[in-house]
Amino acid sequence: MNSEIKKLAILGSTGSIGTQALEVVQSNPDKFQVEVLAAGSNADLLIQQSLKFRPNVAVINDVSQLVKVKDALLDEGIKVYGGEDALADVVQMESVDMVLAAIVGYAGLRSTLSAVNAGKQIALANKETLVVAGELVTKAAREKGVNLYPVDSEHSAIFQCLAGEFHNPVEKIYLTASGGPFRGKKREELIGVTKAQALKHPNWAMGAKITIDSATLMNKGLEVIEAKWLFHLNPDQIDVIVHPQSIIHSIVQFQDGSMKAQMGLPDMKLPIQYAMGYPNRFRSDFSRFDFLKYPSLTFEQPDKSTFRCLDLAYEAMNKGGNSACVMNAANEVAVAAFLEDRIPFLRIAEVIEETMAALELKTNLRYEDFVESDKVARIKATSLI
Ligand code: NAD
Ligand code: MG
Repeated sequence: MNSEIKKLAILGSTGSIGTQALEVVQSNPDKFQVEVLAAGSNADLLIQQSLKFRPNVAVINDVSQLVKVKDALLDEGIKVYGGEDALADVVQMESVDMVLAAIVGYAGLRSTLSAVNAGKQIALANKETLVVAGELVTKAAREKGVNLYPVDSEHSAIFQCLAGEFHNPVEKIYLTASGGPFRGKKREELIGVTKAQALKHPNWAMGAKITIDSATLMNKGLEVIEAKWLFHLNPDQIDVIVHPQSIIHSIVQFQDGSMKAQMGLPDMKLPIQYAMGYPNRFRSDFSRFDFLKYPSLTFEQPDKSTFRCLDLAYEAMNKGGNSACVMNAANEVAVAAFLEDRIPFLRIAEVIEETMAALELKTNLRYEDFVESDKVARIKATSLI
């Protein structure tokens, strides 16, 4: 067992994943130390976290809050920077061993790629990074000898099932999906659903964007694409099965027909800790699963005709190039509009589909081309709202 303390850069420290990662750090002070904390605009929480965890550097993306954060932290001996360039720079610091990429959305791509290019180990929560530019990011990771340790619970499950089996070919994987708050509902019943209803996830408490993605099933679509890149799979090797109890986190099926599943109560601290501590499992006091409280675990097909986003994600994955980047951008625009009550729930999938249909497929993309595709897709999606 490696007794060295791992120095972490936690990007998105004020979010759902970020705050839970800090709980893991707090419970394991002999294993982790916080070197960098970075947030979007929640200056108050960033300051509070910095005073508690004493990072070397704190970064706030929203530069209008920079003075406030500096006033609170400079006298404490904590360096403070603002903006996107700073974020891309600090992850490359010599003193950082691992970067937890937990910014939400496309906004996380640049800093994650920067960390990969600097050879940092990555605990990856920001699935959009792989959806937008999976080819680019995994290629850079291979070249730099960087491991991408999944934080997403389904991908952590697959990764845990693969431990000790990396030489054995995978026949297929099943990503489990809770089905979200609208499981079992038909189109007509979804016409007037509100933001408050969509934000009520049955099993997980998460940030607003991913919670809406769970309600549309786009989250599972994004995860299918994430799995393709993480585990080098073909689209037809990735299946989705609805499992409303969220106890089995995903399943690997090997070439001999054997299936391995990883299970446990839904608690993101477990996959976060596994990614940050790999290959070690640390003792934890997370609640344990009790079989008698779950007398039946059930499975059903996803309703793809009601929840169109899952098929849209398969379509984007099959097309390749900038397709998933365009889809992701349209989804971010549509979800933000839904959260601001500017479009109804069912319009989200339509905006994505119309944006994908309107834009030209581009292949052989460099980083700048993904940036351009994201921008053009946002403009198109915005025009549809
Ligand atoms: P969240 O909205 O709760 O937190 C997002 C974090 O990113 C915040 O700290 C915010 O300040 C920061 N941020 C936003 N925009 C930024 C920017 N431009 N620059 C710098 N920081 C910025 O989101 P979350 O639920 O924690 O999700 C984070 C990522 O993890 C997402 O990609 C999500 O899909 C993935 N994920 C989350 C969960 C979960 O349980 N929450 C599970 C699996 C995967
Ligand atoms: Mg997930």
